Amino acid sequence: MWDTLWIDVRLATMAEHEEGYGIVEQGALAIADGKLVFAGPASDLPGQPSALARVVWKGEGRWITPGLIDCHTHLVFGGDRSQEFEMRLNGASYAELQLAGGGILSTVRATREASEDELVDSAMPRLDALRAEGVTTIEIKSGYGLARESELKMLSAARRLATLRPVTIKTTFLGAHALPGEFKDREDAYIERVVDEMMPAAARAGLADAVDVFCETIGFNLANTERVLIKARELGLPTKIHAEQLSDMGGAALAARYGALSADHLEYLGPDGVDAMAKAGTVAVLLPGAFYVLRETKLPPLDLLRERRVPIAVATDANPGSSPVLSLLLMLSMAATLFRLTPQEALAGVTRNAARALGMAATHGTLEVGKAADLAVWDIERPGDLAYWVGRNPLYRAVRNGDIVVER
Ligand SMILES: [Zn+2]
Repeated sequence: MWDTLWIDVRLATMAEHEEGYGIVEQGALAIADGKLVFAGPASDLPGQPSALARVVWKGEGRWITPGLIDCHTHLVFGGDRSQEFEMRLNGASYAELQLAGGGILSTVRATREASEDELVDSAMPRLDALRAEGVTTIEIKSGYGLARESELKMLSAARRLATLRPVTIKTTFLGAHALPGEFKDREDAYIERVVDEMMPAAARAGLADAVDVFCETIGFNLANTERVLIKARELGLPTKIHAEQLSDMGGAALAARYGALSADHLEYLGPDGVDAMAKAGTVAVLLPGAFYVLRETKLPPLDLLRERRVPIAVATDANPGSSPVLSLLLMLSMAATLFRLTPQEALAGVTRNAARALGMAATHGTLEVGKAADLAVWDIERPGDLAYWVGRNPLYRAVRNGDIVVER
């Protein structure tokens, strides 16, 4: 007997070998021991529903997709920057904002001051907002501590969220996010600290599933980015990169050469970067929230990414500065409207390709037998609706490892 069987449902399996959404009208989906054991046409079921599973759900024609995956967030941080946002819109100059203690370093200060409990408590409502829209897996980066203890505190807080809520969390060490005040004008010395002390400490503590680095004129140069990638490889940690957000520094190509899981942002990515990513199978993670908030006008090279078959993911980049965004559904709309992704590409970007960006493609991201039973059940007419409405949450149920985790 299976644990659960959903019948009278329509499936968007998002399976790679299938066309488009992988649609199954009149589908059925079964779960045993937290895994999918059937996903296909109801006519292929090996018997009467009531004889197959202990619990039979009638979906009344609802759609089921894989549980959504937000593969790039900075969800854990101290304080917020809403005052700075308002000051800027009231006409304050950059210098005035700096004087008022604004910018990323204000988040660093608040994060360092916060206890781990406070970081957990403040992140919880943000996490719940994402979960309410069917997000069952989320990546969370460090990068506002910028010192060993505070980086470990952030990663530990992120991990604890997964013990307090039914959600899968992947943590990423982003010690090379910004230059902390005490290392002003000493980028090389700070990177030495990152690779010699901070990253090994995070690895030893088992708190990092991956390593990320911000390669940019206002982040870290190419040589220092490479030092981070080399160290991560030494430690056996997969890598990701913030690259080509404000300029083309060649970060994505470099990271691809090191076999990075993903390169993220990419508005300024050139053909060489696309080629390198295609060769390495590195996922392009597009972040329309930051594009929108920063009023960026340069579009990521979507046609080239498509042409070279680079897998494309979409994420919130949830953070207090450049992307105060807690809606992955809104990102589907923005990916379609601002970046011209098709609704199907956008949905693949928060399911199959987001799983790949986290190194979880074998177990998550599609409705296929053997994968984790993470699903979202929707009150929609067709899958494209998820990228269509803004401000409507059509989630009916979210299921993680076979358990109902959100009911609406
Ligand atoms: Zn980011």
